[in-house]
Amino acid sequence: DWGHVKTELRGVVGDSNYSNWIEPLDYNSIEGGVLTFSVPSNFIGNYVSQNYSDHIIYQLAKNGHNVERLSFVLRNDPPQSRAAPAAASAPAAPARSGLVESAQLDRRFTFDSFVVGKPNALAHAAARRVAEGGPVSFNPLFLYGGVGLGKTHLMHAIAHELRRNQPQLDMLYLSADQFMYRFVTALRERRMLDFKQIFRSVDVLMVDDVQFIAGKDSTQEEFFHTFNALVDAGKQIIISADRAPGEIKDLENRIASRLGSGLVVDLHPTDYELRLGILQSKVEHYTEQYPDLEVGDGVLEFLAHRISTNVRVLEGALTRLFAFASLVGRKIDHELTQDCLADILRASDRKITVEEIQRRVSEHYNIRLSDLIGPRRMRSFARPRQVAMWLAKNMTNRSLPEIGKRFGGRDHTTIMHGIRRIDELRQTDSGIADDLELLRRSLEA
Ligand code: ADP
Ligand code: MG
Repeated sequence: DWGHVKTELRGVVGDSNYSNWIEPLDYNSIEGGVLTFSVPSNFIGNYVSQNYSDHIIYQLAKNGHNVERLSFVLRNDPPQSRAAPAAASAPAAPARSGLVESAQLDRRFTFDSFVVGKPNALAHAAARRVAEGGPVSFNPLFLYGGVGLGKTHLMHAIAHELRRNQPQLDMLYLSADQFMYRFVTALRERRMLDFKQIFRSVDVLMVDDVQFIAGKDSTQEEFFHTFNALVDAGKQIIISADRAPGEIKDLENRIASRLGSGLVVDLHPTDYELRLGILQSKVEHYTEQYPDLEVGDGVLEFLAHRISTNVRVLEGALTRLFAFASLVGRKIDHELTQDCLADILRASDRKITVEEIQRRVSEHYNIRLSDLIGPRRMRSFARPRQVAMWLAKNMTNRSLPEIGKRFGGRDHTTIMHGIRRIDELRQTDSGIADDLELLRRSLEA
């Protein structure tokens, strides 16, 4: 049953938080209102306790378990998946072996398996270039984009490629939360010297999901020093984040500007062609595995149309289709697809409402809903209002008069004017363009 609650939590906290914090929890027991988990490190226990207790207790309650408190005990044996560090250590690096928690590189995340389309062509080309090794040209390479668009995939691909071409390079790949974990552990165990030595001696440092360290002051600080030391020494740094350096909240300005000082490339949300391409390439892979299964006409096109921009969701749907089809021995046709993916299709079918857009926009700009909708013409209200109008026009099927009604009974020409204004601004004002993109992604999520 914890498995079920876990699945629900994934939806609540998001994929990357889920795999960092919720997945490592092993259910132990429930006794007298206290649920005990075993955890791979105290750090994870503390972190979850501080940040996710309420979510976990709430989800448990929704499933009929009344738990008052969570407790965490340290797991004795290190879990298999975390045992092997990804660091391609030089022979004389015993100091590094004392540190665990390095992420594993996923063997499937290679350039070969990465499908290139318009939305990711630039990021792919930049990653390729960096993976060739050679003289450091883009430093740092900063990859950013929404969830499930291939940031981690590209970083692993670079690591694989570099390792193949230049095995002598000392390379370290880790996520920003693992960086923080190592840093905090080093502080606690008074091993800062080791820590600095390790991080400052690598030839290539890759930090995934760097937005994680925003707001974590001492970690940011240490990251900044590490970063500078490596860049000064001419070492390659590769960073990913869910948004552009300047857009990361609570990230110090000087860090943001250093992060953006190399090449910054954006992975755009997938489009129909790219989704279809990815599906086709995955199907090739699956048909080797399941030679008896056949995919009917139009099924992939249907999926590429109907499933969101997140590639992870797309892959999940396909995996499920093949598993289901092989189980029931049916052809993968339209009917099976509908049966098997009803929930995913329904979720992506979810109608976005004007009200929801207004709420998100007011949160985004930190203004009151009444000011967003109301008559006041100050720029700080008018611009978000126009953004909301634009999103309402582009993300719902509402007509201009219908949208007008929801904006305090404004005339449809006013709405049209607002939308035009934003259409102009998106071309020239990257702040607005980014806002629109961010809001669109978060509404679609
Ligand atoms: P992110 O780190 O941006 O959240 P990931 O790199 O983890 O996303 O990608 C999510 C999943 O989608 C992975 O399984 C990855 O292999 C797959 N994926 C993403 N983009 C592509 C692509 N262009 N071609 C093939 N697979 C992709
Ligand atoms: Mg990732």
